[in-house]
Amino acid sequence: MSSSAQLDKLIRALQVQPGVGTRSATRIAYHLLDRRRSDAIELGHVLIEAMNNIRQCTCCRNYSDSDLCKICANQERHNTRSLCIVESPSDVEAIENSNNFFGLYFVLHGHLSPIDGIGAKELGLPLLDSLLATNKFDEIILATNPTIEGDATASFIASLAQRHNIKHISKIASGVPLGGDLDSVDQKTLASSFMNRRPFS
Ligand SMILES: [Zn+2]
Repeated sequence: MSSSAQLDKLIRALQVQPGVGTRSATRIAYHLLDRRRSDAIELGHVLIEAMNNIRQCTCCRNYSDSDLCKICANQERHNTRSLCIVESPSDVEAIENSNNFFGLYFVLHGHLSPIDGIGAKELGLPLLDSLLATNKFDEIILATNPTIEGDATASFIASLAQRHNIKHISKIASGVPLGGDLDSVDQKTLASSFMNRRPFS
């Protein structure tokens, strides 16, 4: 406990960030109070604005300032008739930075995990189902993380895509380390795993 109730509150609030415990939060709080007060006030405003305004794109579920994200609003992206399924918004960013895919995305915000109560509905699969029914995609690329849960999720989505008679269903190739996260892979590796994607079986 510090000398100020407000300071205690600030230290507790700072711990909302992953990996920040009491000690780090205390250090950050003192740093902000000592040297960065105006920046911290600005950060507060930006946080409020972001939390109030950033929402999920109604088409792909990636984070967006408006109903449709920039990628879904771009007609050229639709013309590729290619859809890449990823677990998280940071995966979209990693794939975009690898400059190897120019189609649309669908963001699951996780993977199937019955034990945690995460099923088809939580991953937005009813929305994906209607997206596959209304858009004529030629190709679905499964780019879930190479983990047991990611693979199980990919299989589930592959059978959903098969019901919509999608011609090409592929999974990104190895090169992405097993058990790793897509967004931690370097751009060259990610680009090559895209190029070497193989039909899903
Ligand atoms: Zn979108």
